[in-house]
Amino acid sequence: MHDESARSVAVTKHAVVIAGGGPTGLMLAGELALARVDVAIVERRANQDLAGSRAGGLHSRTIEVLDQRGIADRFLSQGKVMQVGGFATIPLDISDFPTRHNYGLALFQDRIERILAAWVSELAVPIYRECEVTGFAQDDTGVDVELGCGRSLRATYLVGCDGGRSLIRKKAGIDFPGWDPSTSYLIAEVEMTGEPQWGIRRDDKGIHGLGKLEDAKRVRVVSSEQHVKQGDEPTVDELREALIAVYGTDYGVHNVTFLSRFTDTTRQAASYRERRVLLAGDAAHVHSPAGGQGLNIGVQDAVNLGWKLAQVVNGLSPESLLDTYHAERHPIGACVLKTTMAQTALNRGDERTNALRETMSELMKMDEPRKRYAARMSGLDIRYDLGTGHPLLGRRMPDLDVVTESGPRRVFTLLHDARPVLLNLGEPGALDIAPWADRVERVDARYAGAWELPVLGVVAAPAAVLIRPDGHAAWAGGGTDHGLRDALTTWFGPPTAP
Ligand SMILES: Cc1cc2nc3c(=O)[nH]c(=O)nc-3n(C[C@H](O)[C@H](O)[C@H](O)COP(=O)(O)OP(=O)(O)OC[C@H]3O[C@@H](n4cnc5c(N)ncnc54)[C@H](O)[C@@H]3O)c2cc1C
Repeated sequence: MHDESARSVAVTKHAVVIAGGGPTGLMLAGELALARVDVAIVERRANQDLAGSRAGGLHSRTIEVLDQRGIADRFLSQGKVMQVGGFATIPLDISDFPTRHNYGLALFQDRIERILAAWVSELAVPIYRECEVTGFAQDDTGVDVELGCGRSLRATYLVGCDGGRSLIRKKAGIDFPGWDPSTSYLIAEVEMTGEPQWGIRRDDKGIHGLGKLEDAKRVRVVSSEQHVKQGDEPTVDELREALIAVYGTDYGVHNVTFLSRFTDTTRQAASYRERRVLLAGDAAHVHSPAGGQGLNIGVQDAVNLGWKLAQVVNGLSPESLLDTYHAERHPIGACVLKTTMAQTALNRGDERTNALRETMSELMKMDEPRKRYAARMSGLDIRYDLGTGHPLLGRRMPDLDVVTESGPRRVFTLLHDARPVLLNLGEPGALDIAPWADRVERVDARYAGAWELPVLGVVAAPAAVLIRPDGHAAWAGGGTDHGLRDALTTWFGPPTAP
């Protein structure tokens, strides 16, 4: 074979290839790199620039998972901390919630992506940019990944983080059941000659909003259309018509730098795994942006999957660990689909829906419903079904201020390396985890304060907690090691022989 053609079919190997370097793919790459997995991203775009602003911020639990990796400050320093939570625009305040981050963060998606990309670059993850995954074939030992830029990759696992129209999902033959759109919106970034009516407005067609962009000069328009339309490329005339239909004027709209359409199409992948191929983020679920959930649950999918995939790739855990990714995250996605559909219905502006929204608004002002829905929208209520036991089991470990042998520490700082931790708050040295000592760090510590969880309130103090790298409690002990060996084996693989 001629040298040139031999080079063009050269195959580069990686343990994991991620299709798509949006928020989900970048977060997943960071998680895998922390676990020393050879991971690469293939991304169609040349950089993290986005046409339009898309997601407007982060919810509390997403800030917490970033804090668990020691990178939350990078985001907090660029955004605006505020109460961002709401349900169909009914505000939900979480300032009394038991979390260090009892707020959300207003920060546009391109900024979020740039920060994540910088982190991933520090972790030396290669990104094949301006390059598309065009197909793949999986066999018993790996996946051949075809790229459109004259390269071929071979991976042990391929993860589709390639957005709502995911090629990976389609080529893997994974069903995407759900609901066609019931409404469509135009979204635009423009200048206006006249002073518009700022804020949200409802009519019988739905919800419309005009807000100032960061430079305070340009306007972000979101307007629901008179009839459901599809297609990403609406015209400026359609935008003018939509404005006139709602406001009676187009406010002299000009200099339209971004114009797109989105809908409330609601679908979820039937399975998040097809043998060596996995899905995360929008590739696994799409829904209306109501409530600002998509980016947030994509990042959290990545944090659930990352350590599990790393353990399987590193030969510590059997492949069946990957099935817990679907088992845990599919119900979370299904719940988000349901709450976005409920919000879409409540956002209609006819008199009956207005009456229903006012009723809901009264309910949401009551403490119990507010806490329940605010926890849901902020991601603080997530509980993976790990069986019965202490209320902490399957829930997020709170970021307690503990005192360790080396001094005061926040629990989240123990998770910076994305490794599991056995936090022993009882007799120092009491719990023997020697057969897992290569994978699980035991930290002896003292903590005298209350254990307060979102929604549940104060719970009994456990004597020890086995914390997974994603921050969820895999085991909570009451003073003995009952069940600890099983939990260690289930989540972190069989014991190492002495
Ligand atoms: C108007 C609007 C407002 C929103 N507001 C919010 C909000 O406030 N909060 C929130 O949490 N979410 C919000 N979202 C949703 C959020 O934007 C998405 O959920 C989020 O971008 C999903 O991230 P992702 O990484 O899974 O997918 P994407 O961001 O779609 O990233 C996929 C990446 O894969 C790349 N790609 C695709 N195909 C290929 C291929 N074959 N090969 C290589 N690369 C490929 C793409 O270039 C892209 O970079 C909003 C969305 C819209 C439209």
